Amino acid sequence: MNSLALIIPAAGSGERLNREIPKPYIEVAGKTILEHTLARFISIKELREVVIATSEEYLDTARSICQRVVHGEISNTCVAGGAERQNSIFNALQKIGTVDLVAVHDAVRPFVDKKNILHCMQVAEEDGGAVMGVPAKDTIKKVDRNRVITETPDRKFLWQTQTPQIFRKEILVAAHKKAEEENFLGTDDSSLVEHLGHKVKMVRGDYTNFKITYPIDLKLAEMLLEGNE
Ligand code: C5P
Repeated sequence: MNSLALIIPAAGSGERLNREIPKPYIEVAGKTILEHTLARFISIKELREVVIATSEEYLDTARSICQRVVHGEISNTCVAGGAERQNSIFNALQKIGTVDLVAVHDAVRPFVDKKNILHCMQVAEEDGGAVMGVPAKDTIKKVDRNRVITETPDRKFLWQTQTPQIFRKEILVAAHKKAEEENFLGTDDSSLVEHLGHKVKMVRGDYTNFKITYPIDLKLAEMLLEGNE
């Protein structure tokens, strides 16, 4: 398989969790959420580099976590993030060296399955872009500004997108460059690659790969991680 770099955006403020410490640095079962997340990738033999984007205040913390967790042949770099997730990833991308594939994975998704990551890498190798997701369980409605429902898309074509999102490096770089030039802001990397006009494939992941966003997600993460100890 092709060589891989991993970008971890970890520069969010965590305001939806109502905590002072940003989510990636909250400790659960004796380790920060960021460490639990990194542990899911570190044994992938194609992994060459890890770049973490974090707020200026947490750069030193992120560096010491990397020293503890990222070892062997894998290099690590920590960079300052930006105002939006997309800006954080843009900054991280500038630090990536010569690799075939780049995976972007949220710091706050510590339950991603390694088998699914490998599957996503394989599809990205073949098709240029692959994102992990799960079929939507609920019926999704589109609403207008007054919350009047304007559309009910057919559920069988709706997937909830997660991370990792993995792309051939040149495709992700070109997508971020175009987005920057055109002031195009997306909530994930796939939307930038789609905007570039490149095909991206959906790879089935698990519902357990949830993003720790609200207090209930943190509670669930504590139950799952502490149960594993
Ligand atoms: O805010 P959201 O839930 O989309 O955050 C997903 C991931 O992106 C989190 O790991 C968060 O730390 C990161 N992020 C970032 N820079 C931002 C906003 C979010 O790295 N400006």
